[in-house]
Amino acid sequence: MGGGHAGCEAAYAAAKMGSSVLLVTMNLQNIAQMSCNPAMGGVAKGQIVREIDALGGGSGKVTDKSAIQFKMLNLSKGPAMWSPRTQNDRMKFAEEWRLQLERTENVSFWQDMVNGIIVEGGVVKGVKTVMGIEIFSDAVVLTNGTFLNGLIHLGEKNFKGGRSGEGASYGITEQLVDLGFESGRMKTGTPPRVDGRSLDYSKMEEQPGDENPSKFSFDDDTEHLTKQRSCFITYTNDKTHEILRSGFDRSPMFNGAIKSVGPRYCPSIEDKINRFAERNRHQIFVEPEGWNTVEVYVNGFSTSLPEEVQYEALKTIPGFENVKMFRPGYAIEYDYFPPTQLKHSLETKLVENLFFAGQINGTTGYEEAASQGLMAGINAHQKLNNKSPFILSRSDAYIGVLIDDLITKGTEEPYRMFTSRAEFRILLRQDNADLRLTKLSHDIGLASEKQLKKVEEKIKITNEIKSILKKVSVSPEEVNELLESKGSSLIKQKNKANQILLRPHISLDDLRSASKFLDEKITAVSNGSSDAIVQAEIQVKYDGYISREQENALKLNRLEEVKIPPQTDYSSLSSLSAEAVEKLTEIQPATIGQASRISGVSPSDVSILLVYLGR
Ligand code: FAD
Repeated sequence: MGGGHAGCEAAYAAAKMGSSVLLVTMNLQNIAQMSCNPAMGGVAKGQIVREIDALGGGSGKVTDKSAIQFKMLNLSKGPAMWSPRTQNDRMKFAEEWRLQLERTENVSFWQDMVNGIIVEGGVVKGVKTVMGIEIFSDAVVLTNGTFLNGLIHLGEKNFKGGRSGEGASYGITEQLVDLGFESGRMKTGTPPRVDGRSLDYSKMEEQPGDENPSKFSFDDDTEHLTKQRSCFITYTNDKTHEILRSGFDRSPMFNGAIKSVGPRYCPSIEDKINRFAERNRHQIFVEPEGWNTVEVYVNGFSTSLPEEVQYEALKTIPGFENVKMFRPGYAIEYDYFPPTQLKHSLETKLVENLFFAGQINGTTGYEEAASQGLMAGINAHQKLNNKSPFILSRSDAYIGVLIDDLITKGTEEPYRMFTSRAEFRILLRQDNADLRLTKLSHDIGLASEKQLKKVEEKIKITNEIKSILKKVSVSPEEVNELLESKGSSLIKQKNKANQILLRPHISLDDLRSASKFLDEKITAVSNGSSDAIVQAEIQVKYDGYISREQENALKLNRLEEVKIPPQTDYSSLSSLSAEAVEKLTEIQPATIGQASRISGVSPSDVSILLVYLGR
């Protein structure tokens, strides 16, 4: 149920694996809407999109096909932080997702609003709709996004809705609560959209895309951008803040109308002014909404202040003096279900074959939603075919971190991914998502043979390049000029290329420019695969860090292998702390590894569990 980012991925994955899928959504015109910013990826989120693609999901391809700008963020930092991000054509993104689903065998569509779930004997049997139809199915994936009892706030006004221009969804929360589920409320917000023809870009700083744009999908089906649209940067100022402050008494954020918690890391402009009162300006990214539209997204100006206050404040921003507004910003409150009620497969603990994915689980963001949809779709298929759940560990993927965090720790505010949430981020890079995941996905019948072949070829070439770097020596005559220019100590005799590559600031490109012989050798084996060249460079340069993390991951995975029997009676273990008993009983962790990550479960509680399990 639901045709957002989670719903599309769930339908796509389950259908590609051979399940028969019906995508029921409120409005087929609005499949894969980008409710907020027209962009995909960014720090940690870009890694997730690459992982989705490596697993055979659809978001990477759709993103490439609808991109209007590509940037690899954080290139000045280590490769663990490199994060792809695109600006997208909002309408084309939705169109491409719909096309992709229409071209997928086994996906059918039905436009309707689901208002109930059919459950018999603790097992889901289908859904009921407002048209009075009962649809029977062996599994149901709920991906309702921000629609459940959605309430939109704009200044002192509030009205029911799932997002701007669309109705809210009723009945499901109430029924699930009757079935024993716990629900909560969260909030999110979005900025105004404006008319690009009314802006003076000469007063802003241009932000063009990368000179050599990369892309998200590992597949050759999508292409690199040959033309791009620029974004622009401008700033708020004291006058902007004064006007915004004048509306605070009518702000639902401050007058008590909004009661739920919003994303701390994506605050509204009124929140920023309030919390960082000492700052006299905030950055605004001016982002085009597509190739063929004048509509512009005002990133950094999320607000639910009255529309006239939004408009007056916008006019004080350099470049916005004559701004015309298309749509005001607004905030929305909606129901979610604390995700500790789910198993690692995203199946609910209470109702068999019922899966939850996306914003309904308390997350925020397209990428977070899409990745959960993919995993729920896969696992619904696995379950119905009596196969083991497909679970990614914290050292396999950001997606593994995301789901483990959600179901183990829960979340009381909209959860978004950050690199800091992953303890093995040196392993979980965007460049190696295919090496980490494609084989796993191919083994369960999702990633295609073609995808797997491509990865195997990349591994082969990477290894060949690494072996060249190990064997070929470079002479002082070849590299000393380069080393001097980079402030690196000179060499007196020949050194193996891989040793020189270990030095900071020396890239493989540098070495290839300095040594014609090395360059020719690498060109001969690389078969035009720049991905394999980058891979070899990273694996050689960061070998020490990577090996150390692999060892740590192995240690953690050992704890993951110690299974805890389901329905363990923790209250019978008298040495456990009271808090541990409470949390362990609530979450029912599947392994000692998971138990150790529950807040309130101390290392000594973990030792007691290990003794109890005979370890
Ligand atoms: P959605 O994309 O919301 O899709 C839900 C789908 O379910 C829709 O197709 C809907 O029609 C369908 N549906 C719902 N109920 C029913 C029903 N009963 N029957 C049939 N179909 C149903 N993310 C960020 O990362 N940063 C932000 O700043 C941000 N701001 C946001 C601001 C606003 C105002 C909104 C609305 C969202 C914002 N988001 C933001 C969140 C982002 O849009 C979501 O995280 C993402 O779209 C969630 O994907 P999803 O698939 O879970 O749900």
